[in-house]
Amino acid sequence: MRCPYCGFNDSKVVDSRINETNDVTRRRRECLECNRRFTTFEKLEEIPLTIIKKNGEREPFSRTKLLNGVLRALVKRQVAREQVEQIVDDIEANLRNEFKNEVESKELGDRVLKVLRQVDKVAYIRFASVYKEFKDLEEFTQELKNLK
Ligand SMILES: [Zn+2]
Repeated sequence: MRCPYCGFNDSKVVDSRINETNDVTRRRRECLECNRRFTTFEKLEEIPLTIIKKNGEREPFSRTKLLNGVLRALVKRQVAREQVEQIVDDIEANLRNEFKNEVESKELGDRVLKVLRQVDKVAYIRFASVYKEFKDLEEFTQELKNLK
């Protein structure tokens, strides 16, 4: 790391600290030439997560889109916004951990359904009806039966 004061190319780390969310490391460095101190921040580069849609198209994962989808299903249900945020964060974190960079929209939808099924049955059915695109009442009724 180049010293911002004298431009010298070598420094030593005198202190290293990680932030509360564990994703940024702050390093205090000392220039080996002029001995002045400066700070650098090290952050993991976020790996982009791609969603493969049913028609084969690809789009970048959007937390906002996922959050809105789940919120829509939970309209007027007794689930705190905080819990919804947590659900979305967990789903995203799990996908990133397991799939690295690509995931089918079906997989994503199934995960949301799995969580909603435990959290709120009405929201589950709402989400399923949008996501599974029930073609007729028959399919919808079948899903209700499965739920019971
Ligand atoms: Zn220096």
